[in-house]
Amino acid sequence: MSFEKEIKRRRTFAIISHPDAGKTTMTEKLLLYGGAIQMAGSVKAKRSKKFATSDWMELEKQRGISVTSSVMKFPYKDHEMNLIDTPGHQDFSEDTYRTLTAVDSALMIIDCANGVEAQTKKLYEVCSLRKTPVLAFINKMDREGKDPFELMEEIENTLGISVTPVTWPIGMGDRFRGVYHRLDNKLLIYDKDAERSRPVPLKDLSLDSPEVVAELGEELAETLQAEIELLDGAGDTLDRDRYLRGELAPVFFGSALKTFGIEPLLEGLITLAPPPLPREAQERAVDPMESKFTGFVFKIQANMDPAHRDRVAFMRICSGKFERGMKSHIVRLGKDQRLGRPTQFMSQDRSLVDEAFAGDIVGIHDPGVFKIGDTLTQGEKLHFTGVPVFAPEHFARVTLKDPLKSKQLNKALDQLSEEGAVQVFRPINNNDQILGVVGVLQFDVVQYRIQHEYGVQVTFARLPYSAARWIFSDDEDALDEYVRAQSHLICDDQHGQKAILLDDLWRLNFLKERFPKIEYQATSEKI
Ligand code: GDP
Repeated sequence: MSFEKEIKRRRTFAIISHPDAGKTTMTEKLLLYGGAIQMAGSVKAKRSKKFATSDWMELEKQRGISVTSSVMKFPYKDHEMNLIDTPGHQDFSEDTYRTLTAVDSALMIIDCANGVEAQTKKLYEVCSLRKTPVLAFINKMDREGKDPFELMEEIENTLGISVTPVTWPIGMGDRFRGVYHRLDNKLLIYDKDAERSRPVPLKDLSLDSPEVVAELGEELAETLQAEIELLDGAGDTLDRDRYLRGELAPVFFGSALKTFGIEPLLEGLITLAPPPLPREAQERAVDPMESKFTGFVFKIQANMDPAHRDRVAFMRICSGKFERGMKSHIVRLGKDQRLGRPTQFMSQDRSLVDEAFAGDIVGIHDPGVFKIGDTLTQGEKLHFTGVPVFAPEHFARVTLKDPLKSKQLNKALDQLSEEGAVQVFRPINNNDQILGVVGVLQFDVVQYRIQHEYGVQVTFARLPYSAARWIFSDDEDALDEYVRAQSHLICDDQHGQKAILLDDLWRLNFLKERFPKIEYQATSEKI
């Protein structure tokens, strides 16, 4: 297959949803259609097997949540699908944001009874900022839920995106009979007992034809006809360019649990969702079709396999072709390195990759050299942008139970901060170590990991700060004066960059007036 074709057939996407909307079930069914797993249920089964063997995933099990995100690859109709799982718990970690920087599109799953929920809204906002195209799947149609028109309005009003249903439900709950595919003009009849839906192709048939009435009965057929007329008359038409610009969400209805409505969605992912897109670097935009390999690290995960206490750096390939054994240039370090054990993830299984293309996600063995945001190339000095570190909103002072273990603690904090699991701030005035996180649950994860992976007992004392801002100035004297005046609040972050801790953001307005030459940043792009 030609190089261009290889890249064009890739789709790299993430699922965004509120907990319990059906992300795990959907993932399982997508993998099932892709033939990557044999039997529905195995994603969960395998996960729980992994939980039992991996101790920090044990924490996930205890809490019944997914703390980390994983990457899965599956084939579908000549396409290579890369699905990146986003952590779905209430709390929000930077991992979630960064995962969304590695995809070209998103699939938003909405529970038909609950509509647009808080976590969906938050995740959608990240997509919207990045203008990521979004497909929506209204799930659990086998249960009673909100009126579909009401749901469409809710999505438009709460998320501020236009919608266009590609499939439209016929009844719901006990009366759920399937969906009407508006583009293909066919009914997909839901058969409670069948493994897959039974499509009734309606090419060239009008919706009021006897075949439709025979299939659905007069009442449902009439309702469907009236609803489709309403949609055709008043709704947005499917304009792929608007979808690609992130302005319009094509919507699908179905039931992940009953494996209904998944095929039209997969079809949508291959016909509508974008292939790998160009990506901005500080120096220039990089096109996926460029022959030279480039990529960036968006996630570092420790201890995925308890047998190897090493780390895996997840790299999104942005252009060209990556081959096993290839030397890569790590731009930040200015050095070439052979990437060890490049791995892809089929369902939950790992396999070594011989070659990978733009759009693919490859896990590489990390002996401790990579940092989040690192750009890898074949020599060119490029810095991909858009993988920011976000200012933490929760802070705690870390205290050692055994003072003799400070070396181990420092090692743990260095590694965990490189992974992006926590940010470390060191006050310029004293020897404290202050940890900052975006989502408060992350403190538990970090404490657990420091204890279980590094054997260090620590306690955290929460601090009253609610924000941090990185500080800059073109005027060095002004910066010095500022740092002196505010020294009780100034810290060095893990890269030596100065930041100020704030108890509330009002204080910032006051500081801006008093020290007009100082600039503040809520994200620090890692360079
Ligand atoms: P996640 O938290 O988003 O990963 O959600 P899960 O996939 O774990 O689903 C949460 C619950 O909803 C589970 O009990 C599922 O069996 C159930 N569920 C998922 N999809 C459907 C569906 O289409 N219909 C019904 N009735 N239940 C579903």
